[in-house]
Amino acid sequence: MPEPDFAYRTFYTWDHSTNWDLTQPGARRGGCHEPYEKPPGAFIEDYTRLIDHMAELGLNHLIIWGALRDCHGGVEALGRLIEYGLDAGVRVAPGVGVGCYGGVYYDGEHEFSLVRLLRDRPELAAVDADGRPRLGDGNPRRSVACLRNEEAWDWTLRSIRWLMEAVEPPAVHFETGDYGVCSCERCRAAGRRDLRASDDDLAELLPPLVEEIRRHAPDCWVSYNHYTGYTREMMEQPPAFARAIPDDVICKWGVSWMLEPECAPEDTGPWGPLEPMRPDVRPPTRSSMAHLHFATGWWGCSPRGTLEIGRFLRDFPLLREVGFEGVCTHGEESALDPAGELNYHVFAALAENAAATPEQIAARSVGGLLGEEELAAQVLAAFRDERVPSALPVRVAAAAPRCGQRRVRLLWLAFELQRLAERSRQAAAQR
Ligand SMILES: [Zn+2]
Repeated sequence: MPEPDFAYRTFYTWDHSTNWDLTQPGARRGGCHEPYEKPPGAFIEDYTRLIDHMAELGLNHLIIWGALRDCHGGVEALGRLIEYGLDAGVRVAPGVGVGCYGGVYYDGEHEFSLVRLLRDRPELAAVDADGRPRLGDGNPRRSVACLRNEEAWDWTLRSIRWLMEAVEPPAVHFETGDYGVCSCERCRAAGRRDLRASDDDLAELLPPLVEEIRRHAPDCWVSYNHYTGYTREMMEQPPAFARAIPDDVICKWGVSWMLEPECAPEDTGPWGPLEPMRPDVRPPTRSSMAHLHFATGWWGCSPRGTLEIGRFLRDFPLLREVGFEGVCTHGEESALDPAGELNYHVFAALAENAAATPEQIAARSVGGLLGEEELAAQVLAAFRDERVPSALPVRVAAAAPRCGQRRVRLLWLAFELQRLAERSRQAAAQR
């Protein structure tokens, strides 16, 4: 087997909205900063099913936000999932907030829960432009610390040390926050404070935390979020964080707006400049991952349950061309939903070979799902090209057996093809 085109093939998840065991009450379909309202055992039930599916698809990296909560088993439960993942070839990466998103221990009476720290020591909170503490406006999970405060910084370093010793994760994913940077005097002196996220904070705060991880686990996969995309200017003059953070640490870029600028708001002001992705403009970081939000409802992209295989087929060759080493989408929806199932299979096939043809993807797995390889290849090509041969929906519906999951899948797909044909007709009429 040749090496896959993308070394990191990643699912991104929040614990509260990862729903793979559909018998569990308390499920959410979205949100962040949320409570976990499923029974304690659901965490393992949902995530072991998800990991099984990732292994089947050949995906190898799973980011979990809310990985450590008292209410779903804390260190013991996460340890079980990490082991389960390693056996299946999937590295589980707990999401770690740096001064935000709960810190290391998302929810509970734990020494390294940021929510608890700021509840007990509100003077360590970040402040907004008017000097008001960022304590979450009624949702303490949204509270933010100022990490240029020595005490909060020392606590953060110790929390990483604890994570590496007590949990031993094979991967860690960092975020420095996108819902309120600190505007205290020291933070203002460190760089601009008027955007939703701070590149200066990445440059200053992440290198020592990475060093702490490497001291314990040289082979740990370390990644971090750059919420939005990159620009030509960044390529030509790499920003401070791209130079300060070691080359083997993966920068996960939010590239959905670069790929589909129509998803972006008219004014991207607070998020920084937006440029469409082009083959000659590369990310300024040595190790880069592309985060795709299609079919997730995030970042103005299509809602959960949307079939997005067309975008995947069109976008992956460009992602490969500009040099991404990783691709990431969300894995919260169960593959029992036909859109989720097809999205996952096509994402996985392209993560292995970005230039895979519809015929190759059909032969890899999608032909098996739909029952006929040739028909599957025609369906994939129709979504890629946004052109539906007039007989195709009928052919797909006619291929449905009399009952069972494949019938559900094919009848749903025939309907999706009709909708695509209708959209194409309307688009042609407007031209
Ligand atoms: Zn500050």
